[in-house]
Amino acid sequence: MERGMISVDRWGEGSQVYFLTHLHADHTVGLSPRWNKGPVFCSHISARLFHHKFPGFDTSLIRTLEIGQWYSLSLVSLTTGSQTKVEVMSIEANHCPGAVMYLFRGVFGITLYTGDFRWEVTSETTQMGKNMLLKALKNDKIDTIYIDNTYCNPSYSFPSREVAAQQVVNIINTYPEHDIIIGIDTLGKEDLLLYISKILNIKIWVWPERLQTMHLLGLHDNFTTKSTLTRVRAVPRYSFSVETLEGLNTMHPTIGIMPSGLPWKLKGKDKSCDLSSLKTETGNDLHMNMRNRYTNNIEKYHQYIYTVPYSDHSCFSELVEFVKYLCPNNIKGIVSSSLSYIDPCYHLHNIYGTSSLFPKHLIKEERARVEGECESTLSCDSFTQVKLKSKRIKHSRLHLRKTRVSLLRRFKRGAKLTTEDCSDD
Ligand SMILES: [Zn+2]
Repeated sequence: MERGMISVDRWGEGSQVYFLTHLHADHTVGLSPRWNKGPVFCSHISARLFHHKFPGFDTSLIRTLEIGQWYSLSLVSLTTGSQTKVEVMSIEANHCPGAVMYLFRGVFGITLYTGDFRWEVTSETTQMGKNMLLKALKNDKIDTIYIDNTYCNPSYSFPSREVAAQQVVNIINTYPEHDIIIGIDTLGKEDLLLYISKILNIKIWVWPERLQTMHLLGLHDNFTTKSTLTRVRAVPRYSFSVETLEGLNTMHPTIGIMPSGLPWKLKGKDKSCDLSSLKTETGNDLHMNMRNRYTNNIEKYHQYIYTVPYSDHSCFSELVEFVKYLCPNNIKGIVSSSLSYIDPCYHLHNIYGTSSLFPKHLIKEERARVEGECESTLSCDSFTQVKLKSKRIKHSRLHLRKTRVSLLRRFKRGAKLTTEDCSDD
């Protein structure tokens, strides 16, 4: 972030302080049990999981931050060489256990680093985050947001996790005699599994390391490693494939469910479950898929596999809402792999910054509107109409180009997620 001063989820470069948003593998590249570059700031839950993820890590280097509380650090300014004060607050990110955003205030201005996050308006956690940000910022404006641009493209539209979780339960209920396997990562989607466990009144099988994680998170009653106790198993994402499902079906009828914000498309002949096979989709297929997602239909891509749009990242409309709410001067994406980068400015440029359609005097009204505190219905409505009209004009003008660009970018996004067991989507 501030090179030489503050690093967030970056472990290769020299900094004075290091912050961890959450423990997914793509945010800990370069962090290891031998870490000795300096203190690592994180949430209490991440600290609890740290030793499990990095056995032997020098725990005296871990600093935990209370959520919603300002902390002050004394760092050295790289421009003047003198001591300078930096304040930091962590805010719940609503992504996976322990995930937080960081709000910084210092000589560089005000910066928000979201890490991976879900800005789900129906979620209490998002409401808490909203209130914290509002309280912390008062009337100040954020200079730069480093944003989770995983799904920063209008074609990414999916329902709330509550709706998607019910879709998963519906699938399971449709197959009362089948075994069910669900692909998950080493951290995340616990709420989905808990929902299934509670609604169906069953335990869920997880592999032994995952059970340890569940116990560290205080989840003792809903999970088991005894496969004879349940027909629903959560398996590592890397072992979830058509071949696995076909093998299991030679022994017992089994259905696989993959919860993911990313649509899947299987290759016809080789039946590879590789996400890079998105390349075989035509534009029509893609639009059909997105329409299905928008109408919350469950998708079946293979006789044994369903995908459900359950995502721990914000979809595009949530990103728009988030940026409209905070109206920063500048936005940068945090997914920076050359293969997968989606420049958030491309799709969000018309709703932030000095050149935005957001005149400064309307920012307060919009914040109030989002908070449900706007007293002037007329001004809010006309504001929204102006915004929508402008958006429509821009949209139709750019439609052809956007369609092509979004398809290309979506193909590239698919490529990123195949690289390692860290896709946490
Ligand atoms: Zn993540």
